[in-house]
Amino acid sequence: MKGQFPVEKFQDIRTPFYYYDTELLRTTLRTINEEAGRHENFFVHYAVKANANPSVLLIIREAGLGVDCVSGGEIEAAIKAGFNPSGIVYAGVGKSDWEINLGLDNNIFCFNVESLAELEVINQLAKAKGKTANVAFRINPNVGAHTHANITTGLAENKFGIAMRDMVPVIRKAEKMENVKFVGLHFHIGSQILDMGDFVALCNRVNELQEELEREHINVENINVGGGLGIDYEHPNRVPVPDFKAYFDTYSRHLRLRPGQKLHFELGRSVVAQCGSLITRTLYIKQGEVKKFAIVDAGMTDLIRPALYQAYHKIENITSDAPLETYDVVGPICESSDVFAKQIELNKTSRGDLIAIRSAGAYGEIMASQYNCRPMPKGYTTEDMNRF
Ligand SMILES: *Cc1c(COP(=O)(O)O)cnc(C)c1O
Repeated sequence: MKGQFPVEKFQDIRTPFYYYDTELLRTTLRTINEEAGRHENFFVHYAVKANANPSVLLIIREAGLGVDCVSGGEIEAAIKAGFNPSGIVYAGVGKSDWEINLGLDNNIFCFNVESLAELEVINQLAKAKGKTANVAFRINPNVGAHTHANITTGLAENKFGIAMRDMVPVIRKAEKMENVKFVGLHFHIGSQILDMGDFVALCNRVNELQEELEREHINVENINVGGGLGIDYEHPNRVPVPDFKAYFDTYSRHLRLRPGQKLHFELGRSVVAQCGSLITRTLYIKQGEVKKFAIVDAGMTDLIRPALYQAYHKIENITSDAPLETYDVVGPICESSDVFAKQIELNKTSRGDLIAIRSAGAYGEIMASQYNCRPMPKGYTTEDMNRF
């Protein structure tokens, strides 16, 4: 055992694989329930797109969270994991007919609608089934987030949501339709947000929009502020659980909920990122002209975040305590972007060492691909290890 890893058990498992520390996941979920539970009418949905590993989903379901889905496949995964469809919210700019029908057939709680064209299709498909679909409108609040450009979603230039000036007209249209029911507003400004000021800016915008709707005598039952809370990629050991208290307190302090109004959250990364690590093995050490490379058996096909978002992940040698040396840690894929980290310090590593790429529980396993005809990485939990 080194740190939190059952290294001896790892020895017999084919690398690379994901390891989920389920004790940490449960602690994180307990903290979410405690901190959200301090506030009346706060409801937390887990954003399935961060990680849909069945064992992980099961633990999240046991904690009683609702779910946020962005595809029909995610609705299927959530239902298979036993989530109650009445706790499913479904967002996405491009919902196909079969996906909308799947949501209707399962009586999901709410479609987060991102365009007038989509509203019309939902109304038609609901009509064909003799049903009424609950809809919330995803409003683009034109609020920036201090995060990577590829993961801001709430700016006017982004493809997501309905423009603020179209909010009232689109609600009026929905009111006239027979097979949809307007139940709320939805927002989501981006991901890996650590500056609470970004959430304050969203609260202020929601307050303004609510005042506008009040003047129009439009009643809003549900406000959904999406997800986006970030995690500490630099210090997975020191800060294993994100600051949910500060997060929920920010909304409690700045968002003016009307009596009886419910506030929904869609947390993905902050729920699952820290409990997951990608476990890989050092294959070769290569002394280049100017650098030393640690070539490992995991690649961007297993964890694409560094290549896609220039994301930082802490990397640790979990089998050796030898003095630190400097490496570029790279994978075997035929792409120059297949690099996990440049010029980092690692306990001197040699062929066969196990290496942990930390904070990989969110947007890791789920984004894996078979590029280069590589097998998909498997995911194991703490409980799985005890069975080996
Ligand atoms: C991705 C996404 C989330 C989750 O974001 P995190 O940053 O992982 O918390 C929530 N809501 C919607 C609509 C999303 O697309």
